[in-house]
Amino acid sequence: MALLAEAKRISALFEFSDDDVRNAVVEFVTEMNEGLEKNGTTLSQIPTFVTGVPNGTEKGLYLAVDLGGTNFRVCSIQLHGDTTFTLTQSKVAIPKELMVAETAKELFAFLAKQVELFLKSHHEEHFEGRVERHQTPGTPTGYEEESIFRLGFTFSFPVHQTGINSGTLIRWTKGFDIQDAVGKDVCALLQEELDLLKLPVKVSALVNDTVGTLMARSYTAPGKTDTLLGAIFGTGTNGAYVETMSKIKKPLEGAYDSTTGQMVVNTEWGSFDNGLKVLPNTIYDQILDKESVNPGIQMFEKRISGMFLGEILRIVLDIMMGNSKNPFFTDKDSSSNDFGSTTVIDDNAPLKQQWAVDSSILSVAQSDNSVGLRTLRQFIEKDLGVQAPSLEDAQAVKDIAHAIAKRAARLAGVAVAGIILHTGRLDPKGGPEDIVDIGVDGSLVEFYPGFEDYMREAMRAVDGIGHAGEKRIRIGIAKDGSGVGAALIALVAAKLEATGITA
Ligand code: ADP
Ligand code: MG
Repeated sequence: MALLAEAKRISALFEFSDDDVRNAVVEFVTEMNEGLEKNGTTLSQIPTFVTGVPNGTEKGLYLAVDLGGTNFRVCSIQLHGDTTFTLTQSKVAIPKELMVAETAKELFAFLAKQVELFLKSHHEEHFEGRVERHQTPGTPTGYEEESIFRLGFTFSFPVHQTGINSGTLIRWTKGFDIQDAVGKDVCALLQEELDLLKLPVKVSALVNDTVGTLMARSYTAPGKTDTLLGAIFGTGTNGAYVETMSKIKKPLEGAYDSTTGQMVVNTEWGSFDNGLKVLPNTIYDQILDKESVNPGIQMFEKRISGMFLGEILRIVLDIMMGNSKNPFFTDKDSSSNDFGSTTVIDDNAPLKQQWAVDSSILSVAQSDNSVGLRTLRQFIEKDLGVQAPSLEDAQAVKDIAHAIAKRAARLAGVAVAGIILHTGRLDPKGGPEDIVDIGVDGSLVEFYPGFEDYMREAMRAVDGIGHAGEKRIRIGIAKDGSGVGAALIALVAAKLEATGITA
């Protein structure tokens, strides 16, 4: 039982109390405001030039492309105007040599070619006619505006957005390295190549995945309620919400439609409280940070998202194994080991290697409530590389995994609560029927059992939300967020052009 007592002691280090939640929410709101006032703050609060969210009645056929890392996705989305849509898509792996090409042109010509192939195979009927009309001279713009496809471009690399369909690449990440593209407008790079192929396509919107999530949820959410926030809890974590325009104090460089009085803001909340004023900071968090590629940065994300939770667990277990007082993963003192063999850990077991443990084991640990923890023990063998763990070992893993995930979910609740309080969305009419709608996406929130419940539990503790407020918060998964969201932003952009504001 010494092992379980030790697991309990360590789990307690991950407790994030109601008082901690309340303090963190106050700090979150402070940092939101700072980010709206100036550049270079912990919450970047990036204005997106998207000035409204859809209500489900939008209609039309749009194109969307998504360049996010490994694959390039092209899709068309038919919005039916009744909160439903039809999505057709193709996906192709980016050739490795193009990720490190000499010139941006090599990559973007490839992307444009994929769009052409997609249109030919899925939209030929439109394609022929549209190409013909597109090439008909005589219109002042060279286009017949109604005959072109609008395209939303989801681009998941750091960009400095300068308008709804323009933004310059700050730097590449995720294995890409094409120096020629840095500092250039990625929408213009794509448009040039589409034009060379004479495709009837206009890059109308540059889209961040959180904004896509917000838009997709707002379109598909039941009823006419506008969605307030799109939040991602996947590999990373981030959120985008609808802000009152007058609260954005820092200068906006691009053109936008000011009539709505609103603009979607991308918080980049992964770097909330990098100064660690209110975030928990166990010895395990400190080790993870010190050994990461970006120490001191993305501190909120490092305590919440899928990329890190497995690693936190791995660090804890690794340290526990080194403690001779409480034998762990050595069946010497284990009370039972019904596999009937000796626990073995080989040298290249994931448990021994940085970043080798996937966060999905936290979900497995939480789901397995069987007496013998048989499923979890199988995953400990497969995912941690520990052969024949005892029941007691597995129970210790389960307790610690739970503590780490619960803390993550409560911290996620801090961000959501901060945005709800800052925007005052719970205040105005105040009736129980007034709902605050939130769209979420990402494997962690989708698959970790009870993630949403723990988020809600934290939000109930917050002054200004409480039990009554928490009941009015509706959270829904935004499926196919990047495609549908990009299409919806392309639609917003088209409306913007129609009003004469040049995008
Ligand atoms: P992305 O954020 O890259 O778009 P996902 O939303 O699928 O992709 O998130 C992937 C992340 O979620 C990975 O870090 C992975 O470890 C984690 N993950 C995947 N499945 C689960 C699960 N069942 N429970 C907890 N975390 C998971
Ligand atoms: Mg995702």
